[in-house]
Amino acid sequence: MDRLARARDYLRDIFGFDEFRGRQADVVARVLNGESTLAVMPTGAGKSLTYQLPAVMLEGTRVVISPLIALMHDQLRSARANGIRAATLTSADSDWRETQDAFRAGALDLLYVAPERASQPAFREFLSATPLALFAVDEAHCVSEWGHDFRPDYRQLRPLMDQFPDVPRLALTATADRQTRADVMAQLGIPEDGLVLAGFDRPNIRYAIAPRDNPVRQIAALMAEQPGAGIVYAPTRRKVEDLAEKLGAATGRAVRPYHAGLDAETRAANQAAFVASEDMVIVATVAFGMGIDKPDVRFVAHVGVPKSIEGYYQETGRAGRDGDPARADMFWSAGDFATARSRLAEVGEARRAAERQRLDALAGLVETPHCRRAVLLRHFGEEPPPTCGNCDNCLDPPKVTDATELARKLLSAVYRTGQSFGLGHLRKVLTGQSDERVLQKGHESLSVFGIVEGEDARMLQPLSRALQARGDLVATEHGGLALGGDARDILKGEQSVEIVVPAARKRSGRRGGSEANPVGDPLFEALRDLRRDLAKEAGLPPYVIFHDSTLRQMAAARPTTREAMGRVEGVGAKKLDAYGDAFLAVIRQY
Ligand code: ADP
Ligand code: ZN
Repeated sequence: MDRLARARDYLRDIFGFDEFRGRQADVVARVLNGESTLAVMPTGAGKSLTYQLPAVMLEGTRVVISPLIALMHDQLRSARANGIRAATLTSADSDWRETQDAFRAGALDLLYVAPERASQPAFREFLSATPLALFAVDEAHCVSEWGHDFRPDYRQLRPLMDQFPDVPRLALTATADRQTRADVMAQLGIPEDGLVLAGFDRPNIRYAIAPRDNPVRQIAALMAEQPGAGIVYAPTRRKVEDLAEKLGAATGRAVRPYHAGLDAETRAANQAAFVASEDMVIVATVAFGMGIDKPDVRFVAHVGVPKSIEGYYQETGRAGRDGDPARADMFWSAGDFATARSRLAEVGEARRAAERQRLDALAGLVETPHCRRAVLLRHFGEEPPPTCGNCDNCLDPPKVTDATELARKLLSAVYRTGQSFGLGHLRKVLTGQSDERVLQKGHESLSVFGIVEGEDARMLQPLSRALQARGDLVATEHGGLALGGDARDILKGEQSVEIVVPAARKRSGRRGGSEANPVGDPLFEALRDLRRDLAKEAGLPPYVIFHDSTLRQMAAARPTTREAMGRVEGVGAKKLDAYGDAFLAVIRQY
């Protein structure tokens, strides 16, 4: 029988899935054929299945190299819940002896290790004890200095793998541009035809980007629409603490902080509570998330602009891995860009141009009146359709206005007042309000005094925000504004300026997030209750038992026999055995 057809049977039996998703089948086929591969698939595409499935089909142990202990343990739980023989060798494990014995006896399908362990000579020796079937390298972009997450330990993997020349390699990553991909393949010895590149799109995530006026109110509104679990990224420890406290007070929901300044115990406890919960919100610095594989995160919010589009995509990608509707909301301010641009001066000459490009790309994303998804996907080299129907700009197209004349007025006011005043003062000068300071500086006699009126006055703030995002206005040390970027071209009339008109955009209570769940359906709620109880009993996060989508199907199909239960997506043989009867009993009561 054709290998892939057999793989489908295993997919059904072990994982309870009817079909491969996206490019999974291509990757699995290559792994089954013993061909080395780089799989670039977006978060949530189901990368782990591409080695877990072959692991149970074929003889030999698969060694999985993964950068973070939390990530390994999460994977371990999911693998074991599906009846896969898996173990981890990390500093946090106490069962080393058993794991080593099991490995030597050939009784492991998967062995997870960290790269620093994998590169030790003793480990090489240890691996020779049993036939190996595959090296899987997770977060493979870490091997490349081009990537945004270079880890020197990953460079030691090649010598290890070269000791086992017949063992095929599977590198996995969610983020890699062309240069990084080529580098990873060269570094890990993967042939040129070994690239499987899935689309980057995450259609179930709804992107929205808005200026930040009151982050507590803005995020509380998002939380009101999104009863599920969420991550809020904030730029500093202080802001994390502050937001966590205020959001908790404003919403009455469980909100916890996470940052490197908390002691290790609190951090671990907050992370564990978040992973196990169905509705907790964690406010965190970007230190949080890389090791978190929680599939039912319903929203990711950014307070402040992220470092780069790559970072933004990776962070927002933590929403909705389970494929259910999810949201990614960014709340930015001109100050975020001003700070980031002022830091450019500290960056070494060699990297400055690249860093500036990163910021320009981000400014383009936050300022575009067009489809956000299209901007993101084009950034990753794809050619998406012009509209997606699932981002703020597609759902509620903003007006764009030509602000060239107003921009020239604003910029010349900046210039004529000596490039050291903030927008408040500039507005007074431009709209002709002479207060003490204006008079004291003699600004009422400038040619720009009182040249802006009516509707235009209201556009000064969004215009200044846009110019700061683009770098045409830059912040001075003392909070004033100075000319930068293309300001002179705009002044000379050689460049026009279009900006988005900030309509008082109603954040409508439109469907998003967990509305996919039939909240209020007594059977669905009863199934969730049972899942919660079982999870608590087993010390597992609820999603490891079943995803929401599986419970929804159960509630809709109401299976009454084990056989019918086994046909529900997400119910594999092991889970049918472990939980089938309990869920059947609940269904029979309704
Ligand atoms: P990644 O590592 O690519 O971010 P995961 O391996 O964590 O993604 O998988 C994301 C989720 O998708 C998992 O919860 C998994 O159970 C689910 N999944 C994987 N493959 C399939 C499939 N073929 N059909 C349905 N669900 C799948
Ligand atoms: Zn769109």
